[in-house]
Amino acid sequence: MQSTSGRNERGILLGCAFKGGRSDASTETLRGLSLTTESLVEHFSREWHGSNTPKVAKVIEIWRPRNAQDRFRNYRKKLEAVTSIQELRTYYGSQCICDLGVKDTAHCEWESCGICNVIKSCFSRLAFGARYDYGSKYGDGIYSYHNPALADRFATSSMSSPFRAILACDVVVDHNGLTPSRSDESINDGERVFVRNSDAIVPSYIILYTK
Ligand SMILES: [Zn+2]
Repeated sequence: MQSTSGRNERGILLGCAFKGGRSDASTETLRGLSLTTESLVEHFSREWHGSNTPKVAKVIEIWRPRNAQDRFRNYRKKLEAVTSIQELRTYYGSQCICDLGVKDTAHCEWESCGICNVIKSCFSRLAFGARYDYGSKYGDGIYSYHNPALADRFATSSMSSPFRAILACDVVVDHNGLTPSRSDESINDGERVFVRNSDAIVPSYIILYTK
């Protein structure tokens, strides 16, 4: 595992890379990552509608395993073959009981750590090994939010971490850009994006922030 970072003029630490065992980071990759994280922080701040203004401290890119990438790509391809689709950037909140990203980017092995379970399994396992967010508005499935302040309601930090943590995700829905919209597979009500199949959503970045 390797991480690298750069400090911009606003003092925000950007561009930590969660390598998951890779050691072949190139300067080009890291330069690209900085540009991506700049626009991610912009998106996070622009979409945040809540009572407190968040301050982003770190953005950590998640390097997804090949099989998770393939599941997401195949799911998207299968839907594309039969209908119009949309890929959305949403935010997912859960409890984070470890100090992920405080000193290093190693995830923990605690069953109760929702953030680390999602990162390790790419949404196949949530906190406590659960398969879904049970009993919420549209039934069992995975709920992420356009507004990071809504995802923040589910974020619980460890006592020893100065940061809150949520995940920026990419999610595929099988309908066009109109909201609200729904199908058997997914619902986008303009606030939350619900998917029944965990292959429809992948975590892309960990955002550590204070508010
Ligand atoms: Zn953890």
